[in-house]
Amino acid sequence: MSKKDYYEVLGVNRDATAEDIKKAYRKLAMKHHPDRNPDNPKAESLFKEAKEAYEILSDEEKRAAYDRFGHAGVDPSQGAGPGSAGFGGMGGFSDAFGDIFGDIFGGGGGRSRQGGVYRGADLRYNLDISLEQAARGTETQIRIPTMVTCETCHGSGAKKGTTPSTCSTCGGQGQVRMQQGFFSLQQTCPVCHGSGKTISNPCGDCHGSGRTKKHKTLSVKIPAGVDHGDRVRLAGEGEHGVSGGPPGDLYVVVQIRPHSVFERDGADLHCEMPISFATAALGGEIEIPTLDGQAKLKIPAETQTGQVFRLRGKGIKQLRGSGYGDLMCHVTVETPVRLTEEQKGLLRQLESTTHGSDTHSPKAKTFMDKVRDFFNPISE
Ligand code: ZN
Ligand code: ZN
Repeated sequence: MSKKDYYEVLGVNRDATAEDIKKAYRKLAMKHHPDRNPDNPKAESLFKEAKEAYEILSDEEKRAAYDRFGHAGVDPSQGAGPGSAGFGGMGGFSDAFGDIFGDIFGGGGGRSRQGGVYRGADLRYNLDISLEQAARGTETQIRIPTMVTCETCHGSGAKKGTTPSTCSTCGGQGQVRMQQGFFSLQQTCPVCHGSGKTISNPCGDCHGSGRTKKHKTLSVKIPAGVDHGDRVRLAGEGEHGVSGGPPGDLYVVVQIRPHSVFERDGADLHCEMPISFATAALGGEIEIPTLDGQAKLKIPAETQTGQVFRLRGKGIKQLRGSGYGDLMCHVTVETPVRLTEEQKGLLRQLESTTHGSDTHSPKAKTFMDKVRDFFNPISE
C-alpha cells in the first residue's frame, strides 16, 4: 500500500526546523531501536521507517524534492532521485527548454546603454490556465500592451519631413567634457541626454520619443506538465529598445486555477473520495474521476477513512521526461444520514452483535492502547 508520509512518521509539522527533525528522529530511534525491543517484531520496521524519513528530511535538497514531489521525488526505485533530472527546480527547466524557460526574471540585464541606445524593458504577463490545460499543455493567444517603434517617424522622433539635428552642445557625441581645474570630466550631454541628436520638430504621434503604445497578439505554447509559477520566456517580445536598442523579453508566468476535484502536488494529483460505510466494510468497486475521465478503483474490504489508494500514471506528465505522476485517492468513509426507522433498526442490530468486542474496531483498539501508554509512559 502507499508509503507513509515522512513528516507523519517523525511526528513533526511540515515546517519543522532541522533541529525539530533531529530531535524527533532521536526520540523514535531510541524508542524503536531493535536492541531495546527484542520482543517486539514490529520495532525493526518502525526503526527503519524513522531512519528513512530522517535521511530524507535532514537533507535540504532531498527534503525540498520530497515536499514538491512526494515519495516519487526521493524514492530511488522511482528513477529520478533528488538532484537528478527534473527535480532541480527552475534550473532543470532552463536546461531542458533552453530558450523557452529562462531562469532570470526581469533581473539585471535591463538597460544596457551605449550612447542613448537602450534595451527595451522586460514585460511580465500572468497567464491563468486550468489544471487540465497545465496537464496536457496548451497553446493560447495573449494580447499585450507594448511600446513599439513609432510607425510615423520610424523611431527617429522627428516630425515627418524633418530629421533630428546633431546636438550642438556635444557635437553629436552624446558626451561632454568639462574642465575643472586640472581634471577633465566626461559627462552625459545634458541637452540631448546622450543621444547626440536634438529634435526641433517632434513627431506628433510619439511626442519625440520614437515609440508608441500598441497592443499585440502573441501565440504562447505552454508545455504539458507546467506548474504554478513556471515561466515561459518569449525572447525579444518585450518592449522595443530605444534608438535601435535590442528589445526586452516577455515572460509569461503560468498561474493554475484551483481545481474543484484535484489538488496538485508536483506531478501527483490528490483527490478525496467519499465511500459508503458498507463499501468500506465489505469492499467493492467505485468509479473515480481522473483527468482522462472515469476510472475504476477496487476498494478492499475493511477499508478505513484516510487510507490512500495510488493509481499509477494517472497524475500529470512530468515536464521533463516522459513519466507521469500518480493519482492518490484519499478515502473518507461516510456516515449514513437521513435513515429510516427500518434502517436504524438494522444498524442497531449490527451494533448489538459487534458491541463489547474490540476485534471489529482496529482503530479504537489502537486508541485504547495509546491511552494506556499515555497513563503509563515508556521512560526515555
Ligand atoms: Zn514618431
Ligand atoms: Zn548633446
